[in-house]
Amino acid sequence: MLSRWLDNNTNIFYFWKGRVAFFAILKAMGVKKGDEVIVPGFTCVVVANAIKYLDATPVYVDIQQETLNPSFEAIKDAITDKTKVIVTQNTFGLSTDTDKIAALARDKGIWSVEDCTHGFGGTFKGKANGTWCDASFFSTQWNKPFSTGIGGFLLVNNLSLIHPVKEVIQDLEKPPAKDVFMLTMLIRFQQLFLTPWTYWTLRRLYRFLSRMNIVVGSSEGKEITGNEMPQNYFRKMSQVQMKVAAKAIKKFDALFSERKADAIIYTRFLEKHNKYHVKQKLHKDHAFLKYPVLVKNRSVFEEKARKAKIELGDWFCSPLHPVKENLCQWDFFDEKTPVASKISKHVVNLPLGSNATEKVISFLIRNIDDLM
Ligand SMILES: *Cc1c(COP(=O)(O)O)cnc(C)c1O
Repeated sequence: MLSRWLDNNTNIFYFWKGRVAFFAILKAMGVKKGDEVIVPGFTCVVVANAIKYLDATPVYVDIQQETLNPSFEAIKDAITDKTKVIVTQNTFGLSTDTDKIAALARDKGIWSVEDCTHGFGGTFKGKANGTWCDASFFSTQWNKPFSTGIGGFLLVNNLSLIHPVKEVIQDLEKPPAKDVFMLTMLIRFQQLFLTPWTYWTLRRLYRFLSRMNIVVGSSEGKEITGNEMPQNYFRKMSQVQMKVAAKAIKKFDALFSERKADAIIYTRFLEKHNKYHVKQKLHKDHAFLKYPVLVKNRSVFEEKARKAKIELGDWFCSPLHPVKENLCQWDFFDEKTPVASKISKHVVNLPLGSNATEKVISFLIRNIDDLM
């Protein structure tokens, strides 16, 4: 059902979360102690965790302000004789130099993986996101292109990886009935109660409950305080998630177009006011999930948005979202990624595809001086 958006590639494997798909492919690629994995210095901590769980070292490359991704040159410079994998990312939906990076990796005998957790359904230079590299992984978490509550999948393009992946996934556990039940309840609850009026309260509640490990969360406490693998990490996707996916995907085409249409409205508005925006020339290769803008003072701006009932997102509030302290545990050092560190202090994301664009624009007009 998904291959239509993946240039008809059907080598898809399903997991409890996107991060588990990433972990599985790293393992299938033979990543081990001492190996280096190149990643953007502007990602989720769970990406770094999957690397650390294999005793390998994440090597972060700074991003460019315009594309929110590392440049081809910067990635090339980060390669050493220990580099085993290069990870490219569709940050907020946007891809940069994926073709060149995949080719570079191939030339050097390094594996390539595309983090498509924001980019499902999009294309880069006319080829589907996820099909450029040896493999790619996707997320179906709450806020991702289409949602199954939590969930993820892996797409394998390099056929030599199919057998190793099949070996690795033999160890997958079936998620226990109680967790699947809770996920089902959360999905129901979200469908019934999540509105612009409840967004801020429910977001805070859900984050709190998942950190306390009271509900099935996007991340449990342990994943954001350290780099030890939680129990029950290596799980497959449940039947419930599969069913939800099959339903959600039917609405995806329409949603995808709506998001793109909203994005160009924001771009025109921001360009006119001389504010940070996604350049028009980049829209073609951008899958648009959330629209990034930069604000002078994030907490002030968030408070205003909360009062105005604007569903503002906070990715990536840290170069290793959402961890704000002790980033050195993940071998991350701020001074090496000045652009990512700056952007993560100032970025917020505007909603797309939620029929709120007019409301958001009038909110932005009232607060235009808060934007950078
Ligand atoms: C959400 C996200 C992930 C992880 O996806 P899960 O399904 O939550 O495990 C990985 N990388 C990036 C960039 C993400 O935003």
